[in-house]
Amino acid sequence: MRRSQMTSAEREWRARLAKVVHRREYLRGTLCVREGTCGKAGCKCTRGEKHVQLVLERSDNGKRRQVYVPKAWEKRVRMWIKEYREATDLLEKISRVQWWKLREREG
Ligand SMILES: [Zn+2]
Repeated sequence: MRRSQMTSAEREWRARLAKVVHRREYLRGTLCVREGTCGKAGCKCTRGEKHVQLVLERSDNGKRRQVYVPKAWEKRVRMWIKEYREATDLLEKISRVQWWKLREREG
């Protein structure tokens, strides 16, 4: 019973993964909102109304890297991040099934 449930779930994950892999773009990172000042005298940011910027952060071999994201790109960048997460989540799920199968054989 448990095994057949696992198998149908696995099939669904593999089908979803196949779609994700063929159609979409990926981006690993976290989108952060940063507030800052521009340095211009008399700008509203000197009076506490800071500028808001979007920054994409990712770790790369232990180093933190970042890139500014224009507001007009926010939607598509969020989509790429979502696609990356979906693909890696599905891979992880399928990997867990494989782990489980391996354990079954050992037992
Ligand atoms: Zn300013």
